[in-house]
Amino acid sequence: MMYTAYYRTQFFNRIKNNKCLHQDECWEWNGSIDNRNGWPTFSINSKSRSAVRIAYQMYYDIKIDVGIFKTCRNRNCVNPNHMVLMGSHEYFWKQVKILHKDECWEWQGNIDGHGYGRVMIDGKFTSTHKYAYSTFRHLNNNMFVCHECDNPKCCNPYHLFEGTREDNYDDMMIKGRQATGTRIQLEAY
Ligand SMILES: [Zn+2]
Ligand SMILES: [Zn+2]
Repeated sequence: MMYTAYYRTQFFNRIKNNKCLHQDECWEWNGSIDNRNGWPTFSINSKSRSAVRIAYQMYYDIKIDVGIFKTCRNRNCVNPNHMVLMGSHEYFWKQVKILHKDECWEWQGNIDGHGYGRVMIDGKFTSTHKYAYSTFRHLNNNMFVCHECDNPKCCNPYHLFEGTREDNYDDMMIKGRQATGTRIQLEAY
């Protein structure tokens, strides 16, 4: 039993019309909302957590550490029947707006203070353009991934190239725009 009866009751009471929930319909969240991203939140031991993730874990009574994708696209819904689990990789690409190869494919998820996408993959934080690049090309650990398009959110592998400089993160990104790294030709996919 992952959650105590107390938390289960508290959680359930924060769902609108909780006396007559139907599994096909959205379960609208009436509790707190994260003011940074608008997602439903629920506090456990005074720590604010994603109410979507908790709903899933409570319903199926399992602990999950992979991404959850909402099939109903309703941000405020906490119905576990409207959620599917995803591996990190699928979850990542669901959050990239994929367009023509000449256009920027912008990351739609969390952004760091420098405008770069940040994502947790297999328990480790990485920058989104670096992960995107490594999906298509083997990336050596000591190499950096730079943007040819100057758009820090962009994950289009055609706009990314591998650089060799060993400067720090910010410096690398700024200088990377002067394109001194080796341009890697990507294979068609
Ligand atoms: Zn829904
Ligand atoms: Zn781009």
